[in-house]
Formats: sequence, C-alpha cells, structure tokens
Amino acid sequence: MSIKANIFNIEDFSIDDGPGLRTVVFFKGCSLRCKWCHNPESLTMHEEIMIYDEKCIGCGECFKVCPTGAHRVFDGSEEPDDRRGIAIGQHYIAPGKCVRCMKCVEECFSESLVRAGETVDTEMLKARILRNKGYFKESRGGVTFSGGECMLQIDALEDLLKFCRENGIHTAVDTCGNVPWSSYERVIPYTGLFLYDIKAMDPAVHTACTGVDNRLILENFAELQKRGCKTLVRVPYIPGQNDGELPQIAAFLSKYPEIRAELLGYHTLGISKYKALRLPYIEAYSPTVKEMDELKKQYGFLA
Ligand code: SF4
Ligand code: SF4
Repeated sequence: MSIKANIFNIEDFSIDDGPGLRTVVFFKGCSLRCKWCHNPESLTMHEEIMIYDEKCIGCGECFKVCPTGAHRVFDGSEEPDDRRGIAIGQHYIAPGKCVRCMKCVEECFSESLVRAGETVDTEMLKARILRNKGYFKESRGGVTFSGGECMLQIDALEDLLKFCRENGIHTAVDTCGNVPWSSYERVIPYTGLFLYDIKAMDPAVHTACTGVDNRLILENFAELQKRGCKTLVRVPYIPGQNDGELPQIAAFLSKYPEIRAELLGYHTLGISKYKALRLPYIEAYSPTVKEMDELKKQYGFLA
C-alpha cells in the first residue's frame, strides 16, 4: 500500500539526534509555533517557496511564468496575512494565490527561489534509509524521525518505524508531545527512543512561547514514562522567552531520576530562513558555551 509523507529534509550522519550516527527524516507540519523554531519551513503542512534575496539577479522570470500572478513586490497597500516580515519594495508571494506548481522555482537559475517541502512515498524513504544500514551498524546509530512534528503524519510514521524495526534499525521519534495519546499508542511498539521537548512548566508561559498550553504535553509525557518508554528530554533555553522556567523544569524532571535531559541553547542559524519565508522572527541572546555549561551543571542537565 502506498503511503505518502510530506517532508522537507533528510540529513545523513547526524550526531545530534540520538545515539550513534543517524539519518534524520524531517516531516513538515507542526502543532506548535515556538517563537524560536530554527526550522520555520517545517511549520505548515503544505509546500512553500523561500526567497533568498541575495541570490536574485532580477531577471523577472518568476513573475513571467507564474500562472496566478502570485509574485509581487510589496508596496504596503496589501496586508500580507501574518507575514509581517515583509518590507516595502520586497519581493514576496501573495497569500492564497500560489497553486504550488513550482514553475517559478524551475525557472530561477540563480537558485534564489527554493522549494520547501515535498510529498514522497514511504517506499522511497525506506529505500533511502536502507542505503545507510552499514553506518548505522558501525556506529550503533539509526533513524530519527523529526520535524516539524512527525507524529502529525501518523500513518507514514508508523509504516516507516515498522519497516526499521523489521530491518533491525534503531529508531528515535523527536516529538513536541502535542498530539493525541492514541498516536503514541501506535508507535510505541516500534520506537527505541523518544526525544521529548519540555519548553515550560507554567501553562501561561508555554502558551506565550508556543501558541498552546502544555497540558497534553505533560499528560503524554507522564503516560510514556508509565509505559516504560525510553526517553531523552530536550529543553530549549531561550533568553527572554522561557529562561525563567529552568528551575521549575529541573524540579519536574527530578521526579524522573532515570531520565537524561539535554539543555539546548538558542542560536541564530534559522534567521536566514525566516527572512526567506518573509516571516517575523525573534532575536534572542545566544548564550556562550561557558554559560551553558554552568546552567547544565546547576540544573542537572547532561554535560
Ligand atoms: S527568477 Fe529568481 S533570479 Fe529571477 S527575479 Fe525571480 S527570484 Fe530573482
Ligand atoms: S509555485 Fe507556481 S503559482 Fe506558486 S508562485 Fe511559483 S509559479 Fe506562481
């Protein structure tokens, strides 16, 4: 049976998303809107076009080939939905106009226009995963399914996890926790490790930072622990956003002494992607390695 997955990236030889060397499959679509997300192209379920201004040679081909007239230069007269990152005189794609034919991307020889997202068959992904079986074995690595929120595409995820399990490949699921428990029930039998984000304990802070409260996230977390699911917690540290939550998060995690937790510092690597998507972004202070080491020591996170 053919199952489709909407993904925006596949990364090989990753060392940051579980044990050993890993292939990471990034699913598109997320149920949170974390202000600091470093993969803003992961947020929506549909394909998007990113515009990298610095590469544009001004040939105008994208304007000519677009069948719907979606390419525009912002003159301030139209309110471009929530994309308040657009400046007067800047090239943008009018909301609701793009039919995602990708003709403009094909015509843009300078690669100023970049497609974000692609619908693929899970059979293709399985063949891609199998190619790397050698290095998974050598490094005691495997496959991590990430996003976005990979659990939102549960049929594809379950199919891929089953396949990995049948082929002796270690699996990890990177999740924000904000999905119905019934989805976890489906993947638990085939998941070797959950990478689980905890962003804030105070529901009001969580809502301010991500757009939703943390009730479901904490309920699912507790249930996963009750079931004995191996979990690595990941806590983003974003000065000015959730930094005041660290003591409460550390106190919460102290109830689960068997769980290891990582503290991840804010970085600015996603900013060029926000600009290319014409989305507003926050610029927070990037903590130094020394500052992060001190926080990890103080609150009991992995070194
Ligand atoms: S086709 Fe590419 S290079 Fe030409 S105007 Fe459009 S974005 Fe710029
Ligand atoms: S993908 Fe097609 S419809 Fe969308 S902006 Fe490009 S040419 Fe226009």
